[in-house]
Amino acid sequence: MMPLLYQSTRDEKNIVTASEAILQGLATDGGLYVPTQFPDLHLDFAKLATQTYQEVAEFILQAFLTDFTAEEIKACVAGAYDEKFDNPVIAPLEKKGDSYYLELFHGPTFAFKDLALSILPYLTTTAAKKNQVEKEIVILTATSGDTGKAAMAGFADVPGTRIIVFYPEKGVSKIQETQMVTQKGANTHVIAVKGNFDDAQSAVKVMFNDAELKEKLAKNNQQFSSANSMNIGRLLPQVVYYVYTYAQLVKGNEITIGEPINVSVPTGNFGNILAAYYTKKIGVPINQLICASNTNNVLTDFFATGEYNRKRPFYLTTSPSMDILVSSNLERLIYHLSGADAKQTKEWMDALLVDGQYQISSTMLAELAEFYGAFATEKEVEETITSVFKEEAYAIDPHTAVAKSVATKYQEEQGSPLKMVVISTASPYKFPRTVVEAITGRVSEADDFTLVHQLEALTGIALPQAVKELTDLPILHTQVVEVTEMQQAVESILHL
Ligand SMILES: *Cc1c(COP(=O)(O)O)cnc(C)c1O
Repeated sequence: MMPLLYQSTRDEKNIVTASEAILQGLATDGGLYVPTQFPDLHLDFAKLATQTYQEVAEFILQAFLTDFTAEEIKACVAGAYDEKFDNPVIAPLEKKGDSYYLELFHGPTFAFKDLALSILPYLTTTAAKKNQVEKEIVILTATSGDTGKAAMAGFADVPGTRIIVFYPEKGVSKIQETQMVTQKGANTHVIAVKGNFDDAQSAVKVMFNDAELKEKLAKNNQQFSSANSMNIGRLLPQVVYYVYTYAQLVKGNEITIGEPINVSVPTGNFGNILAAYYTKKIGVPINQLICASNTNNVLTDFFATGEYNRKRPFYLTTSPSMDILVSSNLERLIYHLSGADAKQTKEWMDALLVDGQYQISSTMLAELAEFYGAFATEKEVEETITSVFKEEAYAIDPHTAVAKSVATKYQEEQGSPLKMVVISTASPYKFPRTVVEAITGRVSEADDFTLVHQLEALTGIALPQAVKELTDLPILHTQVVEVTEMQQAVESILHL
């Protein structure tokens, strides 16, 4: 097999192997690693339809991670996709009304980040061995709520690694916060930041690109890596569930082989939908990539005008994992659409940092037609949860509701007869307040831990054991810092 290499979006000369890209997380020039080409797989859907999630994962990951051996990939997949998922098919597809919901919340932290973060620690430690890296890998990550917990669950007590997570103090749900501050593992560190996700993510990016800090780490026999979707090792495992879903639709005779489908993706950092774009690039017939935003609708405007402008009010919404104004992974799409023009991509990303905006060319805007961007207001999110429950007796979380609401908007506008897959990114149990209030039509005074029981009674879906246990776990992390103190906190943890 031809080796597949990875290139930085900001420097065409910065080319590395798959395992190096995973280890580094973020390129040293500040760019993101992208595959230099997309593997030509001649996907055989009749065969894929007979395969398990694990088999599809092995096939797809091997195609992208060409410097991993088949045995290594097999071991990574087996370690990741096991009984820690409460559904044996890992990513079940539920047909409700005229939509198919791809339930990506059956992992240990009940959100879709588990699909990638359960395998990333295996990919990282395997990559370290391959590259004879003896240093401790320090995973430095900003989270909008779900990445942090899922990454810690994956990296807790993994030898040779340490993980530091920053989350916005007021920007996550009660359940999300409790999941994080009760995290066990001697190598895990969780810190609340007085700021929003974008503040935390920017500060983390600055630390990654700080040459002096890098040197201090090296002297201490340590190096940074990332668990954010800026790491290509986070992104590629997400291609797997799109391929698997298409194969499942074929298997269930819902579509014929080759029939195009639409996908609606609740989008924040643009990782999940970029994985869908990559899936399309390797030959899965996805027609429209529907980019669903909440009130923080910077991407909706971008797809309409070609101007990305982060200078706008920031809203805290009921879908906190999407409360983001700087969608890091859009850089990868821009790079691909610019014809792999690293110089131009760097100029735009620098402009975003300095001026808060950039404008792509009209040719590129025309190429964005395979994306459809729209957003759901808070009221629409609530109404969608209410109506889906009323009509289908199916409870969806607020992030999934954003995707469903925008999918409906798209269908009404475009009248497309194609099958619609709504990406269901979190369990309703992760956001019980919004879901219970929408279903009952009443504001509740009860706390989130009471509400999960109410939700169980309303839906009849068994409350996951891990949610039940949350109330009794001791709080192990209490540190809160200003954005300006984040680096100091990292240096202190690492004894630099
Ligand atoms: C992270 C997250 C999203 C956004 O996904 P991106 O890949 O960042 O676009 C949506 N929903 C949930 C529940 C999430 O945790």
